[in-house]
Amino acid sequence: MPKAEAIQVTIRIRPPSAAESAIGDSTVCHQIRDNTLSLETADGKANIECAYGAVLGQEAGQEDVFEAIKGTIVGVAEGINGCIFTYGQTGAGKTHTMLGSSPGNFDGITVRAVRRLFEDLHRNKTEQQKGGEESRFQVHCSFLQIYNEKLQDLLSGAESGNLNIREHKNSKTKKAEVFVSGLSEYRVTGVEDVLTLLSAGTRAREVRATDMNDISSRSHAVLQLSVEAESMGEDFSVLKRAKLSLVDLAGSEKMSTKSVLGKEHSKELTSINSSLSALGNVMSALGEKSRKHVPYRDSKLTRLLQDSLGGNTRTSVICCVSPCQSAAEETKSTLKFADRARRVMLHVRTNEVVDDKVLLARAQSEIARLRTLLKM
Ligand code: ADP
Ligand code: MG
Repeated sequence: MPKAEAIQVTIRIRPPSAAESAIGDSTVCHQIRDNTLSLETADGKANIECAYGAVLGQEAGQEDVFEAIKGTIVGVAEGINGCIFTYGQTGAGKTHTMLGSSPGNFDGITVRAVRRLFEDLHRNKTEQQKGGEESRFQVHCSFLQIYNEKLQDLLSGAESGNLNIREHKNSKTKKAEVFVSGLSEYRVTGVEDVLTLLSAGTRAREVRATDMNDISSRSHAVLQLSVEAESMGEDFSVLKRAKLSLVDLAGSEKMSTKSVLGKEHSKELTSINSSLSALGNVMSALGEKSRKHVPYRDSKLTRLLQDSLGGNTRTSVICCVSPCQSAAEETKSTLKFADRARRVMLHVRTNEVVDDKVLLARAQSEIARLRTLLKM
């Protein structure tokens, strides 16, 4: 039976940056309890005090963030989909939180999540083998970005153009699933393999950044791991499948009406703003009890994350904010998004397929046993 649970919302307040410290920007956003923060708005008139799943203050390290969200990951080896994404204005700490800082230093959630996933898969395999079962698992990894509403493969080694999102019915679970047609997927056997792909994908992102001026804050990056774990005993076989999505969203800041933007730049911002507002609208629709129409198709991002947002996925949002006054209005709008997100209820179940033939064989042997009893 699916289990109802809310999207888990965590707020991470980063330390002031060197630039913020240099201008003596005052601190207006504070963690005041494990799950509560306060924000003085820019005009200083209103104080907001809000509670979330967890609030992490300036001193919180990468391990603390992982501890706060690891509940989203621990089910993946058992066939429960997981999705984690970071939201917030550019410079608020999304990439630091999701991947890690400084080139080559991937100490964020991604590497910790992947390490934990493989630990869980190996532990399950050992336990099943101890119990006399045959057990194996496979993990595949893909990495893409959505830029200007175009879906680009970051691992194909070439310009992948614009990939399409399609839907198919899973022949085993009979459920509709979205997938990206033509996206490259690589088999990974441990953290090291994923780090190699992450480095390659991040480089592909950076190469394009040189002529497009920091594309990383204008594109959504999505790393997905597809897991299949199978165990077989004498008279049964169970296949568990799950997808773990790790999403580093583009910056959520509003387009400034004052600044004069180049055509390319304003097109980028319009497409970011429309995909992030589509995300907000999907969250609002999902937060309503009636759930009449959920506008997944309004953006590539929401279409791609449809399975994650709409139901059968344990989902965690980390909203990243600056502590400083100059960012207070953006922080307020990030917290508004956080409020929408925490109203969304998910219906999470284990994606498990017990082999029909095995069930049939089991039923037939039971019938044979009962017949023998009748004859006695
Ligand atoms: P975003 O991805 O939201 O645009 P980044 O993750 O790139 O922002 O962070 C901007 C800068 O702030 C980076 O130099 C990063 O190292 C630093 N930073 C972000 N969060 C933290 C944190 N919690 N602790 C220390 N430095 C941080
Ligand atoms: Mg970033």
